[in-house]
Amino acid sequence: MGCGYGFTRREVLRAASLAAAGMLAGVRLGAQAKKGMRIDIHAHLWTTDYLDLCQSYGNVDTGTQRNKGAGMGQEEIDKRFALMEANGVEMQILDICPQAPHFENKEHAVKAARMANDLYAEAVSRWPKKFKAFAAVPLPHVDEALKELERALDQLKFVGATIETFIGAHSVADPAFAPFYQELNRRATVLYIHPSGNGLDSPFVIPFNLRWAIGAPMEDTVSIMHLIEAGIPQKYPKLKIVNSHLGGMIPMAFQRLDNISKWEHPLPELPTITAKRMWYCSVGHAHPPALRAAVDSMGADRICLGSDYPYEGGELYNHAVQYISESGLKPGDAEKILDRNAAYVLGLA
Ligand SMILES: [Zn+2]
Repeated sequence: MGCGYGFTRREVLRAASLAAAGMLAGVRLGAQAKKGMRIDIHAHLWTTDYLDLCQSYGNVDTGTQRNKGAGMGQEEIDKRFALMEANGVEMQILDICPQAPHFENKEHAVKAARMANDLYAEAVSRWPKKFKAFAAVPLPHVDEALKELERALDQLKFVGATIETFIGAHSVADPAFAPFYQELNRRATVLYIHPSGNGLDSPFVIPFNLRWAIGAPMEDTVSIMHLIEAGIPQKYPKLKIVNSHLGGMIPMAFQRLDNISKWEHPLPELPTITAKRMWYCSVGHAHPPALRAAVDSMGADRICLGSDYPYEGGELYNHAVQYISESGLKPGDAEKILDRNAAYVLGLA
């Protein structure tokens, strides 16, 4: 029987399948033609002036960022660029954390955010082919964060925003931050989330000097679960959230999250499905089983190259990049992680 415009149903179906095949071929060709770009999505830069300001506002742990070779002196910059070039890394995205300007004092938060963003604007303008930057925002002060976000994205042309896994005493999923997430979503931009170094405020972490060895990945884990339980990735589907350190312990607990959440905290969507709506940096201190667990759990499309420079500097920088292709991943997966995913997330591909 005819199916409109004089074509039989069979002809229409055949035409549709040919068109679909053509479209698929087009997509494939398009993907092949698209040039990859090796971007390090997790890297830091701090100056003594900025760290002094944070210290004067009460941050007692700026020693973790001092004398790490992550400043703007020519010698430091030359070393950084030499490592990048040796590993084919074209660009780093700079992130001010864990010295983000999340001060409870509004004036301090605003002043530190402006200083951080002006500093990064200077770095980007001096070395535009090597750096882009995430915007520091003075949360928990939402109105001020929106203003600084607008300045950083519209005037300074930053590629997204960054916050820490805890905003002082606030969860990343605090309902008060909804306007901030709405604005990021409206702009379809990136939110990079980085540990704060608060050791989860735990008496079982801080006095044992475990803030960074295991405190940081535990922060990642808790913050990711706060996002998942609040349904933030679903509520703001255009926002691209990038979490740190292969998602902390999320890959190891993947099935457990689905099984236990069914009775502990039932959610409209399985946690592992929500987890796959976000992205994760590849910083795993070159431990192949950790990378494989993240790839097997969240998928190779969800992992972006990161180094945590300067913490993986020197020889560790080489390992941070090289382990991606030496971890026994399936063909094509290493290339996605090294050269495609960050560029896609950041809209630079
Ligand atoms: Zn870092």
